[in-house]
Amino acid sequence: RGGHAQREIPFAKPGSLTKVYAIASGKGGVGKSSMTANLAIALAKQGLKVGVVDADIYGHSIPAMLGVADSRPTQVEDLIMPVPTPSGVSVISVGMLKPRRDQVIAWRGPMLDRALVQMLADVYWGDLDVLLLDLPPGTGDIAISLGQHLPNAEVVVITTPQEAAAEVAERAGTMASMMHQRVVGVVENMSWMELPDGSRIEPFGSGGGQRVADTLSQRFGYEVKLLGQIPLDPSLREGGDAGKPVVEADPTSAGAQAITQVADAL
Ligand code: ADP
Repeated sequence: RGGHAQREIPFAKPGSLTKVYAIASGKGGVGKSSMTANLAIALAKQGLKVGVVDADIYGHSIPAMLGVADSRPTQVEDLIMPVPTPSGVSVISVGMLKPRRDQVIAWRGPMLDRALVQMLADVYWGDLDVLLLDLPPGTGDIAISLGQHLPNAEVVVITTPQEAAAEVAERAGTMASMMHQRVVGVVENMSWMELPDGSRIEPFGSGGGQRVADTLSQRFGYEVKLLGQIPLDPSLREGGDAGKPVVEADPTSAGAQAITQVADAL
């Protein structure tokens, strides 16, 4: 090719059969990456071919959660091969594009945009049924880039039950809608914790997920569902730390079952 024509993003082509879900949150630490990693495995368990783009520029925790922290993508001619995880999901992370793992990225908007396009267009994804994108928290540049490059992506908003978290989550949902993306639903994480006697406590209060779903439904004029409530579950945290998501490591745990239900509802 003469010059440097940009490769097309396969998922943006008319007639693409790949469902694209962007996993968004208003702020960090609400479990967005944990949900992305576990949803990917849950969908793969349904027999679907699943790809994950870790676009969380500042967090990029997806490779570690999926057990491929030290893997680097290989290159075949000018295509990047995504990294296969032990559970058969294909992953590319913005962290994998850095020359060194410990390098800190202080990228500005246009570079973020280029990184996102590179992960979508220059990676050989093959025929995927589902592509999940783990977005950075907030309503920043990546959300705008995504709206421009993948207007057909549907958005899943992750929040905790807390009032303040719900409020920023609503903003993330509204941003997606301004970029003409459809918000399919809301997942409330850290909803409660079950005590050994079977009773529940709600460390982060209650109602945030339903509130975000109701507010966005009203604002957009279509139904934004509360797709599920995920309890606080130590095995969920352990699975993430060990690089083996709970949906795979401990499928009968409360956390794994709740996330599996969300995957079924998508
Ligand atoms: P985010 O991507 O929103 O910043 P993470 O997915 O990295 O959040 O989660 C933050 C931390 O909380 C991680 O250590 C993760 O294992 C833990 N965590 C997330 N959800 C739960 C849960 N339901 N139960 C227990 N720990 C959780």
